[in-house]
Amino acid sequence: MNKIEHIGIAVKSLKNSNELFSKLFGKPHYKVEEVKTEGVNTSFFKVGENKIELLEATKKDSPIAKFIDKKGEGIHHIAFDVDDLVSEIKRLKKEGFKVLNETPKKGADNKLVVFLHPKSSNGVLIELCQEIKK
Ligand code: ZN
Repeated sequence: MNKIEHIGIAVKSLKNSNELFSKLFGKPHYKVEEVKTEGVNTSFFKVGENKIELLEATKKDSPIAKFIDKKGEGIHHIAFDVDDLVSEIKRLKKEGFKVLNETPKKGADNKLVVFLHPKSSNGVLIELCQEIKK
């Protein structure tokens, strides 16, 4: 793993939270992107070298809606940048981590992503992402 790629925060209203986080960071988000397959709307902020992703559910049965129902708004996942998703999944499975989606899927911000089950990582939802080369 190379670095933290971004931190994902579950929010009830992307509109309200974009305003709030713009005030916090002193600058607006640089993109909004819907990921239909996940039932989320996302927005991204750059803070120095780091990125923050806000996630809003677009439907009631989306993972983000369920997360907010259970835990309320807050930090949802930590995403790590990897060079080779497939070999990294192999390595982590050997180490006993549970992978939520075996096949990498298209995430926001031009990434292929795989999630690890929080039960196998001390309650932290881990996202691995690999940049899609153009
Ligand atoms: Zn993410």
